[in-house]
Amino acid sequence: MAIGILALQGAFAEHGAMLDRLGAEHFEIRQRRDLERPMNGLILPGGESTVMNKLLRELDLYQPLKAMIQEGLPVLGTCAGLILLAQSVEGGQPCFGTMDIRAVRNAYGRQLGSFSGEAPFAGGESIPLVFIRAPYIAAVGPEAEPLAQVDGRIVAAQQGNQIATAFHPELTDDLTVHRRLLALARVSC
Ligand code: GLN
Repeated sequence: MAIGILALQGAFAEHGAMLDRLGAEHFEIRQRRDLERPMNGLILPGGESTVMNKLLRELDLYQPLKAMIQEGLPVLGTCAGLILLAQSVEGGQPCFGTMDIRAVRNAYGRQLGSFSGEAPFAGGESIPLVFIRAPYIAAVGPEAEPLAQVDGRIVAAQQGNQIATAFHPELTDDLTVHRRLLALARVSC
């Protein structure tokens, strides 16, 4: 089993470190030929969604990755990665648009851009949450379910094979979110 991590820009290395701790194989996706490698799951990291959206198209990665997600490839999008998955984006352009959620970009404003907290995740224990110029999820469609909320705002959701978090689980010690991706990836092996 191997997880591909989109490595065009942003916080991709930290995701690799989390997968190392879980003993999961992973590789970086930088160009089209990286997609020839068998992949059981995908991580779309945090960074700048506008830049990633542009590079995905320029590097001819957009269509094949979108098709893989639509065909059921397990995917975890964190922060900018959430924006890439969202069907509708306030303050930006949708990218893959495969997840029935409405994302609001830079939702907490520039001054309050970074903060941390904790909240129960997916009906389980509380996990630490780190937000950096984060979006939040203003609405989830009938296909998607909220996984976590902070101050009444949805900050994580899942729709079948797709998990999106407004926060950065890779910048904490907690492996809950990555474990959830691996559980989906194992089933699809
Ligand atoms: N604000 C960024 C964007 O819109 C996301 C920030 C992040 O990924 N840490 O893409």
